[in-house]
Amino acid sequence: MLQEQMPELEAIIGLEVHAQMNTKTKMFCGCDNDAFGKEPNTTVCEICMGHPGTLPVPNKEAIVKAAKAALALHCAVNRRSHFDRKHYFYPDLPSGFQISQYDFPLASKGNVRYDLNGNEMICGITRLHIENDAGKLTHRGSVTLCDYNRAGTPLMEIVTEPDLRSAEEAVAFAEELRRTLIAVNASEADMFKGMMRFDASVSLREKGTEKLNPRSEIKNLNSFKALEKALRYEEARLRKSWKETGGPLPGDITVGWLDDEGKTRLLRDKETADDYRYFPEPDIPPLVMDEDRVAEIRRQLPASPREKKQEYVEMGLASAEATILVEQPAIRALFDAVQTKTRDAKRASGMILTQLMGFLNAEGKTPSDVPSVNDMLDLVDAIDAGTISGNSGKTVLEKMVATGKAPKDIIAAEGMGQISDDAKIEALVKEAIAKNPKAIEDYKNGKQAALGAIVGYVMKMTNGQANPGKVNKLLQKALKK
Ligand code: ZN
Ligand code: MN
Repeated sequence: MLQEQMPELEAIIGLEVHAQMNTKTKMFCGCDNDAFGKEPNTTVCEICMGHPGTLPVPNKEAIVKAAKAALALHCAVNRRSHFDRKHYFYPDLPSGFQISQYDFPLASKGNVRYDLNGNEMICGITRLHIENDAGKLTHRGSVTLCDYNRAGTPLMEIVTEPDLRSAEEAVAFAEELRRTLIAVNASEADMFKGMMRFDASVSLREKGTEKLNPRSEIKNLNSFKALEKALRYEEARLRKSWKETGGPLPGDITVGWLDDEGKTRLLRDKETADDYRYFPEPDIPPLVMDEDRVAEIRRQLPASPREKKQEYVEMGLASAEATILVEQPAIRALFDAVQTKTRDAKRASGMILTQLMGFLNAEGKTPSDVPSVNDMLDLVDAIDAGTISGNSGKTVLEKMVATGKAPKDIIAAEGMGQISDDAKIEALVKEAIAKNPKAIEDYKNGKQAALGAIVGYVMKMTNGQANPGKVNKLLQKALKK
């Protein structure tokens, strides 16, 4: 007997992305927003600790950054938005509510174009709103440690339309979103530091139908790998369940991703908005973004990552090299500085993408440990002025990465300066001629290349520090005598 035909199913995926903004201070207080590497509970105050009777004051820098991100995502910045209290009780949230934006978000209705296997794709953005982050809990055996340094960090929550059809599309979209947030300097979006986190919803439907079925929401995915693996797993699980039950999930569910075990686990039937008891935040007036203000922010928008990448490719860089520059602003700043100064993209890419990146990797350093733009340009100057050779330049760069010292200090301390002292080079040239009679004879018989041996001798005697131009000049002079 024929088996009953399974309908052809398609996955419907949407994302909620939380990105920490790289502001100086927190969202509603003056505390330092850079808690990385700091002692727990040292960048806190009574406001971000949620003490009663304190007054939150919105951070202007955060609002401008969020608006800039919204415009880069082609959203409309709403003229009026407001903050709401979203209530839940958990030790990471000392006030018992998060200040978020519920029914009137900062921005809505945008889209992101991204590339997947050479095809241009598009994913709609439903909304972008501002809220504050919670503290961080660390579970150790039977105890839980609370660190509130992160409490109050400004967040953008970006919600997509259910336009994604596979884990692969979700990741390609999320990568483009990350590049966009970095390009407008709204977030460092450093995944290792938890600065960008995903909740991913997936449901199935019969291909050709329009109805959205109940979905499974996977909470708190902290890397592109986890996003991809979790979505693949959950989609497969829903397909299997469809086969067994003959249809979609009966209602929405929330699951967690167990990275070690490579599977999801049911957390709860999904909470609804009612459970959060949203109401307008009484301590903060509505946020008004007038047209001039928005137009001014729009004028400051840089080129999109895709446009920027295209520029680098047109300069002659490989696609992978251009992607590094688009994704790593610290590296890009150095590349741009060297390229602008030398007008030589190949040379800039050799120094920055090959040498510098190689040394950073070898030293186990991150792109934020790079030399300053000034030090990098001083190194270019030292090479171009002939103070050191290009080869020595590489050694100096290696030491700059290892020690953080300025190039001129390294050159002086290591005695790496090129020898341009005429008398010294002249003496070595004479010595080289005396010791290489065969080369001189060959040269006199018309073999120009024979002089290489003489130059090589001088370079060897000076550990490569003789100025090659000078050696050649003085050699010619000596041969004319
Ligand atoms: Zn504070
Ligand atoms: Mn949120």
